[in-house]
Amino acid sequence: MTHRITAIHEDGTVFEVSYGYGPGQRRMLGCQHCDWQERITYGGARHKGLDHLAQAHGALGSPRMTADAAARRQVVLIMLACFAVAAVIVWWAASQG
Ligand SMILES: [Zn+2]
Repeated sequence: MTHRITAIHEDGTVFEVSYGYGPGQRRMLGCQHCDWQERITYGGARHKGLDHLAQAHGALGSPRMTADAAARRQVVLIMLACFAVAAVIVWWAASQG
């Protein structure tokens, strides 16, 4: 399972940090454009990836709002899924009566 964290330089070049599980199920960030690697022990992999791309390559990632919006969407989807399951159970229980 590998995620990609991308950032775009002023001149349009896209820089990319890959994020996934390395040996021993350790979470690793690895830059595609230099030798930078970082083992993630806690917290924001995306933030660290974007930090590297900004500092080492001068590329800016999508603003943090995007990540927050995506996270919020995920929460909403999970809630909707739970609600749908509950609705089906209620409907099933009602139809048995
Ligand atoms: Zn790099």
